[in-house]
Amino acid sequence: MQTSQIRSRFLKFFEKNGHTVVPSASLVSPDPTLLLVNAGMVPFKPYFLGEQTPPWNRATSVQKVVRTIDIEEVGKTSRHGSFFQMCGNFSFGDYFKEGAARFAWELMTGSQADGGLGFAERDLWVTVYETDDEAERIWRDVIGLDPSRIQRLGKDNFWDMGVPGPCGPSSEIFIDRGAEYGPDGGPAFGGDERFIELWNLVFMELIRGESAQGLGKGHDFEIVGELPTKNIDTGMGLERVATQLQGVDNLYEIDEVYPILDKAAEMSGKRYGAGHDDDVRLRVIADHVRTGLMLMSDGVTPANDGRGYVLRRMLRRAVRAMRLLGYQDPAFPELFAVARDCMQSSYPEVASDFGRITGYAFAEEEQFASTLRQGTTILDTAVAEAKRTGTDRLSGSEAFALHDTYGFPIDLTLEMAAEQGLQVDQDEFTRLMTQQRDRAKADRAGRRLVQADQSSYRKLVDTLGASEFTGYSQIARESR
Ligand code: ATP
Ligand code: MG
Ligand code: MG
Ligand code: MG
Repeated sequence: MQTSQIRSRFLKFFEKNGHTVVPSASLVSPDPTLLLVNAGMVPFKPYFLGEQTPPWNRATSVQKVVRTIDIEEVGKTSRHGSFFQMCGNFSFGDYFKEGAARFAWELMTGSQADGGLGFAERDLWVTVYETDDEAERIWRDVIGLDPSRIQRLGKDNFWDMGVPGPCGPSSEIFIDRGAEYGPDGGPAFGGDERFIELWNLVFMELIRGESAQGLGKGHDFEIVGELPTKNIDTGMGLERVATQLQGVDNLYEIDEVYPILDKAAEMSGKRYGAGHDDDVRLRVIADHVRTGLMLMSDGVTPANDGRGYVLRRMLRRAVRAMRLLGYQDPAFPELFAVARDCMQSSYPEVASDFGRITGYAFAEEEQFASTLRQGTTILDTAVAEAKRTGTDRLSGSEAFALHDTYGFPIDLTLEMAAEQGLQVDQDEFTRLMTQQRDRAKADRAGRRLVQADQSSYRKLVDTLGASEFTGYSQIARESR
């Protein structure tokens, strides 16, 4: 089953069961405390917090999600994408634990001919929170799940959202991928490459207090009461389900990701599966290009801070991974075209907005390529010198010079040094950065004293509109 088909099947199932289909919100978070949407419930937070009254008591969505905390996992585990789609069903004071378990089980194990996903019951395991007798009883007595497939977990099965705020136990559905992926024992004792978490059902029923002490079990904070209405928030990983239903080994091999990987392999002349390090690079490229496409289609542009920096880092990591695979030319024109083809059936805007999106991507690749060219030579010299003198460290001033003169971000220096078995004196680097920042600040303060009144200039800009500053790209082009 294609990923986009699973997506519509999910929505259809919950729509049929009285849920209003709510389109995915933008990745740019509506919640100011969050840079990027990282879960399906984020757009519904005001309803769960009781700040707004939901227009429906049941809703369903497939939310676009980016999790920066998972970026380092990408390509190494079989289940973490930096971008993924979280399928969710939500109850605002309507059905609770039993309803949520019934819906999830019916969709998971229902036959594909009848609109279900067709998972075999014998491959599924369920975890519940360590004190949640009610959830265990439901899985055992209402759903009829073999009790030996139900395990109790601590912190992993308790969810909360800030202090004070709603919280509650959760219950998760896992698939057992079989003995070739690790030891048995269920999700509580087996490896997380064998037992893959597919679906998290959160039972929001309690209120977490300010205090950090209190109940000792799993959560180390105080529960101060029960919510007036009990809510359900669930998240099923679309790509993880697709991985299983498409019979592939990992998330980067599904229909929405693999063609990008395959294109990167073809371009670099590498064979996927031939070696671990190159495989990880290919997966990183496929993942990051897809994430970049989705971020830019939601209006994020490369920048040195915030969301823009998350994007910039991923685009640059993809470029560098292509270099490490031995490919030197601009790669984004071909890779982004494939990513667009992968995603456009669910997100037509990636095609209609492709010109704008690729404009940013291509410029970023070009700019970073020249940074890399210049910086790499300098870094290589420093590395050779370090090795010659028998030290395992690059000095902070070398890292600082790379940053200051060639725009080499420190994380890139760290990564490239580590590849050569070297560490970087980060304390010294930070000290030099701080010094530079202080100097710049003092400089600005000095300048402010001699600044003339600019209000007339301000008026001019307001009337005529500000002109766009193109100096840097102009200079960059001219100096090439
Ligand atoms: P894991 O323990 O595997 O990292 P999680 O507990 O962090 O997953 P949740 O926060 O419970 O995940 O999110 C709900 C669902 O979203 C998960 O059950 C999983 O199916 C999916 N999911 C979570 N993180 C990712 C990711 N990085 N890539 C793809 N799917 C994910
Ligand atoms: Mg996780
Ligand atoms: Mg988990
Ligand atoms: Mg989870």
